[in-house]
Amino acid sequence: MDALLVINAGSSSLKFQVFGIAGMDLTRQIRGKIDGIGTRPRLQATAADGTGLIDQTYDAKAVRDLPAAIAETRRWLLTLEGFELRAVGHRVVHGGPDYARPVLIDAAVLDRLASYQDLAPLHQPNNLAPIRLAMEINPDVPQVACFDTAFHRGHAKHTDCYALPRAFYDQGIRRYGFHGLSYEYIAERLREVAPQAARVIVAHLGSGASMCALRDGRSIENTMGFTALDGLPMGTRPGQLDPGVVLYLIMEKGMSAQAVSDLLYHDAGLKGLSGLSNDMRDLLASDDPHAALAVAHFVYRCVLNAGMLAAALGGIDAFVFTAGVGENSPSIRARIVEGLAWLGAELDPAANEAPAALISASKSRVAIHVLPTDEELMIARHTLALISAPNA
Ligand code: ADP
Repeated sequence: MDALLVINAGSSSLKFQVFGIAGMDLTRQIRGKIDGIGTRPRLQATAADGTGLIDQTYDAKAVRDLPAAIAETRRWLLTLEGFELRAVGHRVVHGGPDYARPVLIDAAVLDRLASYQDLAPLHQPNNLAPIRLAMEINPDVPQVACFDTAFHRGHAKHTDCYALPRAFYDQGIRRYGFHGLSYEYIAERLREVAPQAARVIVAHLGSGASMCALRDGRSIENTMGFTALDGLPMGTRPGQLDPGVVLYLIMEKGMSAQAVSDLLYHDAGLKGLSGLSNDMRDLLASDDPHAALAVAHFVYRCVLNAGMLAAALGGIDAFVFTAGVGENSPSIRARIVEGLAWLGAELDPAANEAPAALISASKSRVAIHVLPTDEELMIARHTLALISAPNA
């Protein structure tokens, strides 16, 4: 079977999926990941029907870094029979100011993507590592880069700039926005399930969280900015923060830039505020008042940001919940929708608990949907489209 490999490489995990190709049809064959890289490495993969294919743990030294994880994953993938690898699609966090759509990768593109490393130092080098390796090992297999930023590139300039001297904008200091592959997938789903909804807010609430305003299926605004730190509070990131706090920590508290970075990426958000966990499930199950505070803060900021996006859209026709929290937590959905009552949003409690794909009451002025996201399928679709018609 002709196959596509989709790769999503981070610092401590490498996620991969294999899709079968028949014409322009894609069928998911394998989902897998290797996580705990450098600490407790574990390679797991399942077939499309959920059957386990491998579940192997390693000594930390055996899979100490991402290149070792890529090598181990490749070794396992090569043992699979019946797949002819036709292309590899990669999730790449940053497409910089230039890339508004996915791109076939060649040496020049790779150089350009590497030049965006400064814009996403924690993610971009990890995203590019498997591309480099695959180019070396399989130079004839086309590779496609799909960006988290690309879907937002059509924003008007006055929404993308910060109120800084314009030279900063020209140097790339802009509001890029992220989670674009998720929003693009949801925009495609909405064309099927709610084609009449012109003004939509999509809430991608996972361990990373953001919201996007869609007008006629296109992103016009989102809650993230120059980095994925902005906007909503997340598992370990604070979301919107007065930059004066960062200055204060460095100048008055004597924290190093690295220590502030660690705080903002790894120790803030739900984890920092609760002092307990970055996982919403733990917080909802806890009777600790700090857990309740973190949840209340999360819900409040979601409502506040939805109000901002509703203003950008001039009102909303539909609201979509997606990603780990959005897809799985009826109580968080109920609390957020309660905060959107002023927009005419009203839940159908039974549909919310079910959950159904449509969870709004019949008299709600806003249609409220729960739609599972699928960033990997979006990458596979882009990759197949590009290898089928590279100049389209
Ligand atoms: P990632 O950004 O890592 O892809 P996900 O979209 O998978 O994240 O979301 C992961 C988060 O979803 C978990 O950290 C957890 O907080 C949350 N989550 C998953 N299931 C539930 C649930 N039933 N109730 C509340 N939160 C949940």
